[in-house]
Amino acid sequence: MQPLANVTPLKPAARAGSIAVRNVGQIFRTSTQDVEALSDVSLEVKPGRFVVLVGPSGCGKSTLLMMMAGLRQQTSGTILINDAPIPQPDPDRVGVVFQEPSLFPWLTAEENVEFPLALRGVAKSERRTKAEDALKLVGLEGFGKRHPHELSGGMKQRVSIARGMVQDPPVLLMDEPFAALDEQTRMTMGDELLRIWAATAKTVVFVTHSLTEAVYLADEVVVMSARPGAVGDAAARRVDSRVVSPLAVLDDYRGLERRRRVWPRTGRDPL
Ligand code: ADP
Repeated sequence: MQPLANVTPLKPAARAGSIAVRNVGQIFRTSTQDVEALSDVSLEVKPGRFVVLVGPSGCGKSTLLMMMAGLRQQTSGTILINDAPIPQPDPDRVGVVFQEPSLFPWLTAEENVEFPLALRGVAKSERRTKAEDALKLVGLEGFGKRHPHELSGGMKQRVSIARGMVQDPPVLLMDEPFAALDEQTRMTMGDELLRIWAATAKTVVFVTHSLTEAVYLADEVVVMSARPGAVGDAAARRVDSRVVSPLAVLDDYRGLERRRRVWPRTGRDPL
């Protein structure tokens, strides 16, 4: 795999990505009961931020992300991406990466990355160039002709990140994208994601239930409470210069410190 340090970004983010979530609620109506997944959630994400949504399983993180992606409509409230509602998926504004890479096994890495462009009728030569650029960005230059079964779990997830970014959306939404990877690959992928973020200046919203991952990656951490999910003013805090003392993550922080001793890494202080 190619190191990412010398990679040229696809292009500098021409369009900044802002997200406004205002008084959003989500009620799932099932045959037996109504489930209030989110209640009165408000959140502003400024362009270029790396925001991590963290909270216990079932607190509504994925639901909130799906609504930001236009894959689900909220029951109440407003969601604006770049000052406009998102009534349906809009790959020009928002790229999405899920927990499972969900690649088509019969397509090569390159063809998988091209797929959203093919759906929109983009000419083959343009598709190929964009897919190559995106694969290069995620450190997979030279792996485009491989099929998913010829790639490791981390590489498959890189392909899926490349696919989410191939249309160069200003906003990238990621739902526990590294959860299926082993711990060491997960940390490497975290580092690479931070480099991609720095190279492209995209707005990233990343969902995880791991406080360690949240603290490691985030420019800003938003802590969600148990169902119905809510985001209180006191819970959303900016993590300036990766100083995390205000957050109740001390135990996890100690865990991270222990791990740093076990796995001496690049010498870069993860916090
Ligand atoms: P998280 O991502 O934080 O684990 P989710 O957003 O997946 O949480 O789910 C939030 C709550 O909404 C959970 O209680 C879940 O069971 C419920 N939920 C999610 N999707 C549906 C659905 N399609 N129908 C009914 N309930 C749902």
